[in-house]
Amino acid sequence: MLAPAALPTPLHQLSDPVLERAGLELRLKRDDLLHPAVPGNKWRKLVPNLEPARERGHTRLLTFGGAYSTHLRATAAAAAALGLSSVGLVRGEELAGAPRNWSLRAAEASGMELGFLTRAEYRRTVAGLADPAVAAGLAERWGRCLVLPEGGSNGPAVTGAAAIPAEIPDLGPRDLLCCPVGTGATLAGIAAGLPPGARALGVAVLRGGEGYLEGELARLHREAYGREFANWRIDHAHHGGGYGKVPAELEAFAADFEERHGIALERRYVAKTLLAVHELAAAGALAPGTRVTVVVTGLPDPVR
Ligand SMILES: *Cc1c(COP(=O)(O)O)cnc(C)c1O
Repeated sequence: MLAPAALPTPLHQLSDPVLERAGLELRLKRDDLLHPAVPGNKWRKLVPNLEPARERGHTRLLTFGGAYSTHLRATAAAAAALGLSSVGLVRGEELAGAPRNWSLRAAEASGMELGFLTRAEYRRTVAGLADPAVAAGLAERWGRCLVLPEGGSNGPAVTGAAAIPAEIPDLGPRDLLCCPVGTGATLAGIAAGLPPGARALGVAVLRGGEGYLEGELARLHREAYGREFANWRIDHAHHGGGYGKVPAELEAFAADFEERHGIALERRYVAKTLLAVHELAAAGALAPGTRVTVVVTGLPDPVR
C-alpha cells in the first residue's frame, strides 16, 4: 500500500500587505504537505491512475520525464509502494553515460529502471502514445506496461486534481483558485472541481504556451468529463523567462516570502505562481474583495 496521505491538506490564511492593499485575501492550500514521497499534485494525479492499474492486473508502469523530473521520482516512489515495477524514459540520450544527478538517482533508488531517448525520439514517443506502432515498440523494448503520459497528465489525473477544491469549504463567486501550469492537468482538475461562480487562474511556467496550453486544458476536460469548462484562464506573462528558469527577482521574492511567512517555497512552479499573484494584485488586475487561494502544488527540491 501507498503510505497514507495527509488529507485533507491544510488551508492557511496569510496576512500579506501587498494583497491587503489591493483588497484581496490570500490563502494557501498546502498540498506540499500531502505526502512525503509523492508530493502535492503528483499524488493527486498518480493515485487515480495507479490503483485501477493494479486492479486491472498491471505489474509495471512506464512514463516519461526530463533530467530533474519530479513526476519520475514520484512515479518511482508510488510504484514501489504499490509493489509495481517502473520504467522512466528520460529526455536526453547524453545522460545515459553521465553520472546520475540527484533526481535520477532518487528514481533509481526507488527501483525505477531508466532509459534514455534523444530529444527527437522523446518528442516522437510522447506525442505518439495513441499510435499502435509506438505502443508496440515500447512493449517490445520494455515489456507489458501501463504507459502514463508525460507529467502523468490524463483524464484520471484531472479527476484526481478535482479533489483539491472539493476539500475547501464554502467556495463561491468571490473565490479565485490559483495554481502553476506545467502540462495543465492540475489546473484542469481544479477548474472542474469548483462550484458555480468560483474561478481558477493558472500561471504558465513555460514560455510560449499561449494557445497550446488552452488547447491542452480543453482536451483534458473532454477526456475526463466529456465536455469543456469556461471558469478558468491562464496567465502567460509570468513565466520568468521559461521552464525551469529562476530569475534573480523571483529568487529574491521567494526568499522574502519564506522569511515573512515561514514556508519553504518550491521555486520553478510555486514561487512563480505566488509572484504572479503579487504582481497581478499590485497592478490592480484582481477585483477587490476576491479571496485568492494559491495551491502549493509541491515541495522545494532537496537539492538546489
Ligand atoms: C509537476 C508540477 C506542476 C505541474 O503540474 P501540471 O499538472 O503538469 O500542470 C506544478 N507544480 C509542481 C510543484 C510540480 O512539481
